[in-house]
Amino acid sequence: MMETITYSLHGNNATSDQYYTHINAFSRIIHEKNSRQNALYINQYSRYFAEKKTEECMPKEIIYFEFLMMGVLWNTYIHKAIELNSLSGHVLKKMVFLREQNRFKGVIDFFRGIFGTAFLLKKRQQKEIEFSMEHFRQLIHWLKASGEFTYEAERIETWEEFMTCLPKRKAEKLLMRASTIGQWFKDESNHVIGKYTSHVNAFIRKNDEKMKWQEHRLFCTRSRVEYHLNMVGAEIMNRAFRENFLKTKEKRVLLPICMRAQSEACKAHKSQEGYRCTGCTEECSVRHITLLGRQHGFKVFIIPHASTAFSKLTGNDGQIGIVGIACVLNLVSGGYKAKALGFEPQCVLLDYCGCKKHWHEHGLTTSINLEGLKRILGVISDHQSNDKV
Ligand code: SF4
Repeated sequence: MMETITYSLHGNNATSDQYYTHINAFSRIIHEKNSRQNALYINQYSRYFAEKKTEECMPKEIIYFEFLMMGVLWNTYIHKAIELNSLSGHVLKKMVFLREQNRFKGVIDFFRGIFGTAFLLKKRQQKEIEFSMEHFRQLIHWLKASGEFTYEAERIETWEEFMTCLPKRKAEKLLMRASTIGQWFKDESNHVIGKYTSHVNAFIRKNDEKMKWQEHRLFCTRSRVEYHLNMVGAEIMNRAFRENFLKTKEKRVLLPICMRAQSEACKAHKSQEGYRCTGCTEECSVRHITLLGRQHGFKVFIIPHASTAFSKLTGNDGQIGIVGIACVLNLVSGGYKAKALGFEPQCVLLDYCGCKKHWHEHGLTTSINLEGLKRILGVISDHQSNDKV
C-alpha cells in the first residue's frame, strides 16, 4: 500500500471507492444540518444580493457551504488574524499580488517565508475572541495576506458586505452561529471521515519546526479540519456546478505534475495552456488519461503548479468545462478560481499527496480514482467500472 503522508482516500482499503460513498453521504448531512439551523441568514444573504443584482448568484448549496467555511476559518485563524498588524499585512498582500503576476517569484517566496513565520503565524494566547465586525475584517485581511485563501477571502468579503448592513448585534450573532457550526463540523468530521486524514497531525508535529521561515509552511501545516472542509466543499461544488459543466462545448482535464511516472525524464511538450503528454512511458497515468481524452473528446494538460492553473485563460463565459485534479487543500480555492475566470469547474482529488515541493523528500507518483474521473466527465454512468489509475 502507498505511503500515507497526510491523507489517503484509501483509508484502510485497497481503493478510494468507499471514500466517495462516505463523502457523498456526509456532505448531504452537513447541508441538511446547516439548512435546518441557518436558513434565516442564508435566505437574507441571497435576497440582499438578488435585490442588488451586482453579485453573481451562487447556487444555494454553495452559499450554505460558505457559511460553514466562514465558521471554520474563523475558528482556525482568528487568533492569528488579530495579531497581524496592518502594515505587515499590506506588505504581504503586495507580495501575493506580485507572485500571482509571476514576477520575482524566487525573491518573493524567500521574503514570504520570513514574513509568514514572523507575522502570519503569531498567535494570541487569549482564549475567547469577541465576535465583532472589526475582528471579522481582520480575519479577511489575514486570509488575503496569507496568499493561501485569495478566492475564499473574496467570497467571505461578500458576507462582510451583507453583514455591514445588518444591525450590529445581528451581525455578531451571525458570526457566532457560523463559528458554532464550524466547531460542530470539526468534531463530526473527525468522527465520520477522520480515517482518511489520520496522519495530518503527526505530519505537522514532525515538520512544523523544520519548515520555519519557508514559504510553504502555512500550506503544509493546514489543520485537519481544513482537509475535511475541502473534501466536503469539493463534493458540494461538484454537485452544484455539474449541470453547467455538462452543458459546456469543450472539456479539459488539468493534471498535476506529481502524477507523471517520470519526473526528470518526462517528454511532455510545453503549450500555451499547460504541458501536453507525448506518451513516452507506457505505465504513466497521464498517458492513460490523455489517451482516454482522445477517445472521448476532452483535452488533457499537465499543470506545473496550482497557482498557474488557467492563468493564461480568461473570459470564457462558461463555454469551457474544467476538471481540476489536485490534492485536497487546493480544491475549494481552485473551484472558486475557475468560476471567477468564467470556467465551469469540477474536481477529482488525488488519492494521496506526494509532490517533492511540499510533501515528500523524493516525491511520490500520485494517482486518482479513474472511475471517479470518468463519472465526472460523463464517460460512464454512476454505476459502471472499477478502474484505478
Ligand atoms: S507519459 Fe506523458 S506525462 Fe508521463 S512521463 Fe511521458 S510525457 Fe510525461
